[in-house]
Amino acid sequence: MESLLSEILSGPRQRRLSRAASVVYGKRKVVIGGDAPVVVQSMTNTDTADVIATAIQIKDLARAGSELVRITVNNPEAAAAVPAIREQLDKMDVDVPLVGDFHYNGHTLLQDFPECAQALSKYRINPGNVGQGAKRESQFAQMIELACRYDKPVRIGVNWGSLDQTLLARIMDENARRSVPWTAQSVMYEALITSAIENAQRAEELGLAGDKIILSCKVSGVQDLIAVYRELSTRCEYPLHLGLTEAGMGSKGIVASTAALSVLLQEGIGDTIRISLTPEPGGDRCREVIVGQEILQTMGLRKFTPMVIACPGCGRTTSTVFQELADDIQTFLREQMPVWKKQYPGVESMNVAVMGCIVNGPGESKHANIGISLPGTGESPAAPVFIDGVKAMTLRGDRIAEEFQAIVLNYVAKRYAPTVVE
Ligand code: SF4
Repeated sequence: MESLLSEILSGPRQRRLSRAASVVYGKRKVVIGGDAPVVVQSMTNTDTADVIATAIQIKDLARAGSELVRITVNNPEAAAAVPAIREQLDKMDVDVPLVGDFHYNGHTLLQDFPECAQALSKYRINPGNVGQGAKRESQFAQMIELACRYDKPVRIGVNWGSLDQTLLARIMDENARRSVPWTAQSVMYEALITSAIENAQRAEELGLAGDKIILSCKVSGVQDLIAVYRELSTRCEYPLHLGLTEAGMGSKGIVASTAALSVLLQEGIGDTIRISLTPEPGGDRCREVIVGQEILQTMGLRKFTPMVIACPGCGRTTSTVFQELADDIQTFLREQMPVWKKQYPGVESMNVAVMGCIVNGPGESKHANIGISLPGTGESPAAPVFIDGVKAMTLRGDRIAEEFQAIVLNYVAKRYAPTVVE
């Protein structure tokens, strides 16, 4: 008799239909929206006027895998530095497109520094920060006209911390006339979405092509972000930039961003992401890129770098050997990727398992491309290695980490070397 059970399926919902916007620098073209993969982007925290420090950080972010890098262009010194930053990047062979982040004086800076306007591949405009009253209209129009003149896409990026107050007042008035007024929270959501969409429509009226507009509505609460983007995604076909603003430091920032973005991405919403982490003093800015990539990769939406599957460890593991090995191998794999991704196509799909004992070790190792099961407490001091599900050798002694790394290298060179067609 046929089972009444239905098949258990996995995967995200079909991606929301959106236009595709291209961000171009030289031969490098990054597509946001349409059926392009979700793009990971980041932002520098150096003083843009410091050309060398900014160029180095952009290079690091690009090397970590950031596909677009945003820099603040907040004053004439920063605007003057942008072409020099671009030149430094060209010298270092870094072709990542640059996005200029403008507030208050963007219209003046883009007008006064044409080489800056040209060197940037995309402009971010915050409609809440382009000016007040009549000036707001004309300054916004000026920025859009400059985007048209230089043929650049723009992100109309609304942020609840800098919401256009005139528009908010209008939405509140409309709410007051409702027989059952909405909550203040719903009014705020509506104001964010209306600001993004009305400004995008205004940009189109001013002559900017619809496929040169990307929208974002950033808030700092997980449920707020989900509610706003769910609604925004139904009201327009512009590609959407996702990000939780002011996500915070450490694990809180990572968890909050992951929680919010995962729900939306699973629903097919979101075309580019940025993880706004506050680095610890002296912390690595590239972490935001790695977190963004890991969200997409662990959800099965993209592949960037081989993944290490490691058990959490427990009372069966009395030494830190396996934790160190898991950490070393993850760092090693990530460091190889800039070269490997050119040399070994498909290597980003590889899984490596590092397990602490024989309870789950051999089983998990067999599911990975390569797995090692380290000895737990009381187990014989031997570490079986599994390659493509088959036990290939057993490592012993003090050099297990080095030997395992060599096995991984050897595997990659054999398995992912491009096949030469005679
Ligand atoms: S694999 Fe072994 S060491 Fe790792 S968590 Fe499970 S029981 Fe503990």
